[in-house]
Amino acid sequence: MKFNTKIIHGGQQVDQETGAVMPPIFQTSTFAQTSPGKPMGDYGYSRTSNPTRTALENALASIENGNRGLAFSSGMAATDCLLRDYKAGDEIIAMDDLYGGTYRLFTKVYKNSGIKFHFIDMNDLEKFKSTINENTKMVWIETPTNPLMKVVDIEAISKITKKHNLLLAVDNTFATPYLQKPLELGADIVMHSATKYLSGHSDVIAGALIVKDEDLGKHLHFQQFATGATLGPMDSFLVLRGIKTLHLRMQRHCENATKVAEFLVNHPAVENVYYPGLKSHPNFEICQKQMPKGFGGMVSFTFKSGLKQDAITFLENLKIFTLAESLGGVESLANLPSMMSHASIPEEIRREVGISDDLVRLSVGIEDVEDLIEDLEKAFDKLRR
Ligand SMILES: *Cc1c(COP(=O)(O)O)cnc(C)c1O
Repeated sequence: MKFNTKIIHGGQQVDQETGAVMPPIFQTSTFAQTSPGKPMGDYGYSRTSNPTRTALENALASIENGNRGLAFSSGMAATDCLLRDYKAGDEIIAMDDLYGGTYRLFTKVYKNSGIKFHFIDMNDLEKFKSTINENTKMVWIETPTNPLMKVVDIEAISKITKKHNLLLAVDNTFATPYLQKPLELGADIVMHSATKYLSGHSDVIAGALIVKDEDLGKHLHFQQFATGATLGPMDSFLVLRGIKTLHLRMQRHCENATKVAEFLVNHPAVENVYYPGLKSHPNFEICQKQMPKGFGGMVSFTFKSGLKQDAITFLENLKIFTLAESLGGVESLANLPSMMSHASIPEEIRREVGISDDLVRLSVGIEDVEDLIEDLEKAFDKLRR
């Protein structure tokens, strides 16, 4: 089955009892048993599993070319489930540019448990190799990154993790399986904030893990139902509904973001533009190899003036782009990472990594791109007054 067909049919079947084309929302906490310990069907209690969640989890496994999908109550809950396997003394190597909430979970919650985190530039493979030691257990990457659109070579990194017997987890939220399939490139675990492109309509908070290895899948399912941050039936339905149009939405997101990035490159008020589809992107070659279908819907940029106040004035004057946290929905959103999505990262680390105070991040939606560009143009015009 090819990808666009999998998006619609992967892991799905019509409801065997009623013929319903979409799975019913099984809004139930528990399932009847005929005799103690003998459920009537495959289900016992909805924290362990629920048929609507199963339908979503099968779809997730199918579109990422994995064998098991797990749906969580948020992206952070999915990451948290994975981290529970590590103990004091274990070391995890992560990228130096990460979603702010992931950085916060690692440094504020898990550091207390004695796990050591290294945050490094994962394009420097020599540095990466030299950071690995006998305590290293897992490698965490995000590509493209939020908000600087850094891209790292998943395949090259996976060759090294395999050699050292380390688990490689990839946050695939920005690219989605439409653009990039980490499991095919040698990763062991794919993580998603399904809040973003997978659901695609800014109406649900959800997360996912997808793996190929069946034993790892079983183990993570145990961790999931034992700790309990599972996705409810209604929210599972919403994510499944969103996935059905992922390919069409992503195609338009990529087209619109490319045009917005080109507009920004040519605008006199703009200093740097961060978009993996630009030839000026430092990892353009890897981008082309790893994401041959397109470069996603996220674009960041800074101002020539370097002034945070210019960024604020610009953001206050957007009309079609909504100033809001989050991304990946059909509507265009704008964000100031230093004061919003990445405010939880200490200022000196933000500076080191390159998240300047005037960096604006755009989630380019699927509206008519002419309207989006006009909206940006008018907000830039306010800076000259
Ligand atoms: C939003 C986001 C997360 C966190 O997911 P939630 O669903 O908000 O918990 C993790 N990684 C990336 C790249 C994100 O954009």
